[in-house]
Amino acid sequence: MRISNPLLPSVSEGVQVDELALNADALTITARTTAARAACPQFGRWSARVHSSYWRTLKDLPWQDRSVTWRVKVRRFRCSHCPGRIFAEPVPGLARARAQRSDRLAEAQTDIGMALGGEAGARLSRRLAMPVSGDTVLRLIRRCKSAGCASARVVGIDDWAWRRGRRYGTIVCDLERGRVLDLLPGRACEPVRDWLAAHPGIAVVSRDRAGPYAEAARLGAPQAIQVTDRWHLLVNASEALRSRVERHQAEIREAARQAAFQDAPAAMVALAPADLPPEQDNGHGGGRRRQRCEAALRLHGEGVAIKTIARTLGASRNSVRR
Ligand SMILES: [Zn+2]
Repeated sequence: MRISNPLLPSVSEGVQVDELALNADALTITARTTAARAACPQFGRWSARVHSSYWRTLKDLPWQDRSVTWRVKVRRFRCSHCPGRIFAEPVPGLARARAQRSDRLAEAQTDIGMALGGEAGARLSRRLAMPVSGDTVLRLIRRCKSAGCASARVVGIDDWAWRRGRRYGTIVCDLERGRVLDLLPGRACEPVRDWLAAHPGIAVVSRDRAGPYAEAARLGAPQAIQVTDRWHLLVNASEALRSRVERHQAEIREAARQAAFQDAPAAMVALAPADLPPEQDNGHGGGRRRQRCEAALRLHGEGVAIKTIARTLGASRNSVRR
């Protein structure tokens, strides 16, 4: 029976489903492997010499609130290269050799464990029809820490303080799964370069601004795209904005004053900067100072309070008095 119904758990080429048994809280799928050969885990040599077969029981992701269990007949092969070696085949697209759960179920339970920890993770997992013990959740988390590196595709690299201001290392994160992959000694190029070179599956490296990490990515992961991470982009942007603002203090004060004019009494509106004679700056701010002085005198002549003049011109009360 070849099943390719998208509503049922997916199977790969090389797995044939023979029977589905459904009851109130479980779906049991009976299947067998059909590939002509399997690769020996030792050196990857293919072998078609079947030694024996046995039944494996594999838990899978739930289906319609029912827990799913596979009963798969798999084979042992005699390696054609390693003398006397017999190895079991994996179930293609479902689980590696000797695993008790499908890869996708292990991934889901690892994610739950990462969020909730062992016991609470196991409780939620049971509630979602993926029964598991707390100890197993912890084991999955530990395994993921070492195996997670191998499948990382998008990594973020940044420095990280062992002791702030004194001792720094480098942290490598899997940005797709939101997990820490590794901590490397120091902030130099070499350890990062070597780490990247040992993980050829990496497609994107997100890093800080130029410097050692850019060099490390260029040498260790030439296949990867380098991107600047969002945090460093924001830091760059805010630094640029601050230095811009600091260079244009005078214009900003002017704009603030114009905004203040809009709420000021009619007598003051007559003194809006647009009505003043064009600024004749002698390079020492003298032109502006004279204009402000004239404006203050005129407002004072019209009986406007010192305090209000000061606020309107953006000057201190003392300078207005002077
Ligand atoms: Zn072998």
